[in-house]
Amino acid sequence: MATPTTPDFNKVLYKPLAEIDPEVQNIIDKETWRQFTGLELIASENLTSLATMEANGSILTNKYSEGLPGARYYGGNEYIDELEILCRKRALEAFNLDPAIWGVNVQPYSGSTANFAALTALLQPQDRLMGLGLPDGGHLTHGYYTAKKKMTASSIYFQSFPYAIAPSTQLIDYAGLDAQAKIFKPRLIICGASAYPRDWDYGALKKTTEREGAWLMADIAHTSGLVAAQQLNNPFEYCDVVTTTTHKTLRGPRAGLIFFRKDLKDGQDLEKRVNDAVFPACQGGPHNNTIAAIATTLLQVAQPSFRAYAKQVILNAQALATGLTAHGYKLQTDGTDNHLVLWDLRPLKLTGSKVEKVCDLLGITINKNAVSGDASAQTPGGIRLGTSALTSRDMLEDDIKVVAEFLHRSVQIALTLQKEAGTKMLKDFIHVATTEQPGKVGFKQVQDLRREVRNFAKKWPLPGVDISGLQRPRGIEEDE
Ligand SMILES: *Cc1c(COP(=O)(O)O)cnc(C)c1O
Repeated sequence: MATPTTPDFNKVLYKPLAEIDPEVQNIIDKETWRQFTGLELIASENLTSLATMEANGSILTNKYSEGLPGARYYGGNEYIDELEILCRKRALEAFNLDPAIWGVNVQPYSGSTANFAALTALLQPQDRLMGLGLPDGGHLTHGYYTAKKKMTASSIYFQSFPYAIAPSTQLIDYAGLDAQAKIFKPRLIICGASAYPRDWDYGALKKTTEREGAWLMADIAHTSGLVAAQQLNNPFEYCDVVTTTTHKTLRGPRAGLIFFRKDLKDGQDLEKRVNDAVFPACQGGPHNNTIAAIATTLLQVAQPSFRAYAKQVILNAQALATGLTAHGYKLQTDGTDNHLVLWDLRPLKLTGSKVEKVCDLLGITINKNAVSGDASAQTPGGIRLGTSALTSRDMLEDDIKVVAEFLHRSVQIALTLQKEAGTKMLKDFIHVATTEQPGKVGFKQVQDLRREVRNFAKKWPLPGVDISGLQRPRGIEEDE
């Protein structure tokens, strides 16, 4: 609290957000209400814990600590050292790793910066790397470029070449990748994806990288929670480096981790290369509030209850897949092994953009996504759905069946709206979805389903929030 002698210029330091900045508080309240009254199906999102949010919002944000525990550029880091050492220990424990064989850097600000630091550690500028192509479910940071433009740092500063999924099976084409690697001679192969509903054959990739003398890196940003819970194949058995985000299936704060092997036969010191790449090559001071939040998350991940959560995420994704295929809809690979499904909308003659738009109006948050064989990357023919967040709101398979029915009705409404719009243009589609017009029914169907979705969503708790006292904030209109 401020004291009687606190000068005016410092009084502001003691006022709570709601008092000093009602405008930002109102935005936070509206976003909280949106998360409470909607259904979150974005596969890369999750709902983190109260403890994680407390750590993330803590006083640790004040401290500079460039360097590593025991070797910092600033003083006053005795407790920050303790924190970072604890976080590293918990990271190895959460993924069942032997500290003699694996090390970890817990400082990356996000998945993208973790990946660029890993590339910096493993490669020289303009070295060759291969990653899964973006339209096939890969990530921007694995080397994305178009005919006209190198899109990301991973393709600007390195020579990247994509591998693909096989059109017939929609599974990773390991044989094709192996043949391409013989010609392209990559120094690094990256596996892992943002939109791939099946598991990886790390052993097959290792055969290729061993023959080529290349590094093998897994980016398990999406699936790390399921990997830690031992519900998917273990990339640590085969890879030299494993990167991840901490906010997707792992259910922590927004950040990244880089795991590296310490037992390389040729004596290469990956530990030093990775640590130097994170700081000073790519980042400055670590976000210690975030590192505390990661540590708290990893404590949770190491509990038996997290394994039960991860199992339920997968069961829920499979229930979602079954619910949709029961209506005759087409899913890429016909189902899922993990937390996500890819829904191919092209047989319905709908685009991902239109379904994303309708779902947004309905309070169902999803994203448009390319599906195998899309003619144009600009108009993705599918959507991506994940069950991590709904599982964090306590939903089980029977509840997910209700969500599948909501999605079925959303798509049927999208078909009605497309007909009533009279053209294929997105703006005409949005117009009929949002404006009442005589003789047209789509608008009313959107309103009705929105109400049903809202009433259903409000039945569930929201992690980290006391919903008993939650009230609709100023600036949000709702019919009852
Ligand atoms: C989400 C994701 C990232 C990027 O993470 P950010 O925290 O958004 O930077 C990297 N790789 C993969 C595979 C991802 O899915």
